[in-house]
Amino acid sequence: MRRPLELYIHIPFCVRKCLYCDFLSQPAGEMVQHGYVEQLLAEIDRESGYYQEYGVVSVYLGGGTPSILPAEDIRAILDKVRACFFLEPGAEITIEANPGTANLDKLKAFADSGINRISLGLQSADDRELKTLGRIHTFEDFLKSYQRVRLAGFSNVNVDLMSALPGQTLASWKSTLRKVLMLKPEHISAYSLMIEEGTPFYGKYHDHPELLPSEDEEREMYYATREILKEHGFERYEISNYALAGFECRHNIGYWTGVEYLGLGLGSSSYLQGFRFRNEPDLEAYRKIDFRSDDADWRLHQDIAELTERDRIEEFMILGLRMTRGVSGSEFLKRFGQNMWNVYSGVIPKLVENGLLEVESPYIRLTDFGMDVSNYVLSEFLFDR
Ligand code: SF4
Repeated sequence: MRRPLELYIHIPFCVRKCLYCDFLSQPAGEMVQHGYVEQLLAEIDRESGYYQEYGVVSVYLGGGTPSILPAEDIRAILDKVRACFFLEPGAEITIEANPGTANLDKLKAFADSGINRISLGLQSADDRELKTLGRIHTFEDFLKSYQRVRLAGFSNVNVDLMSALPGQTLASWKSTLRKVLMLKPEHISAYSLMIEEGTPFYGKYHDHPELLPSEDEEREMYYATREILKEHGFERYEISNYALAGFECRHNIGYWTGVEYLGLGLGSSSYLQGFRFRNEPDLEAYRKIDFRSDDADWRLHQDIAELTERDRIEEFMILGLRMTRGVSGSEFLKRFGQNMWNVYSGVIPKLVENGLLEVESPYIRLTDFGMDVSNYVLSEFLFDR
């Protein structure tokens, strides 16, 4: 058995920057995009040399907007991955796509190049809300894209949604959910808007939270999400992720359960052999890397940090408890050679007593109430609170 590895490949380009977005992404011309892909291919060539004993179980093309690239570029990237790594048969290969950035031919070419899962960024079915967010598309554009995705043969589709938007009401959020459910996607991610520093939204809303839905309204949206999606057969398998049975995102589950991952491309993060590191985050600097030189090593492996056992235990608990199945005491013992109950003897019984955690041996998991206040519950698993 090869050691499992997940690949994350970052494509940092978008048609236009959304007003709330703090991801590493920007608009760029075709020349810049093409040059970036050339660099990425060289990076894959170079980095793969270190990971020959691994079997790649998932590939995630994220961004940015990966679907902005021509189909030939996406094919070249995946061909390079296949040529340089051992790609496990049946590996999950996801691409993020935004409405209006891929026609039917492009989507068919994506499917031909081995992509078997697509994640569409809708956020809202209300055109006014989309405009407020600075998205480039309307709901109508999304519907056309969704239809093309199905025509291209994709049978594993995620739709990304966002609640707690400026001007959003409980009624408009429910309407977004219902409109999307009519299309029968296999997976829905539903996050709340975060106001991030350095974005136009920060300037507008940070000091004026009254312009956003109140905490109570946000809670109501959150409860409505859970109920409406449940009525339609969606299982919540992580705090913000819902899927029909068998369509949970394997790549994300790997991340929450501590599978090693290698990030490729601008600013991507990696977690390998107990170390975390980050790729060059500056586009100009990344474009100048000479992948045949030793200099490439420090550019590709920045901010290296070795995780102590305490770090790894905290991460195992905090990421694992995000999932509704929880964390297993047996798995804990196998990984760390210690008894989870002893390590958290002051925490687990207290959270169980307060109805935030439940036990179904060998698992512990958050209760519904625990999920509602997950930030507090998860922080209890940090050693230095
Ligand atoms: S499409 Fe996504 S990555 Fe691109 S600017 Fe908008 S939110 Fe950011």
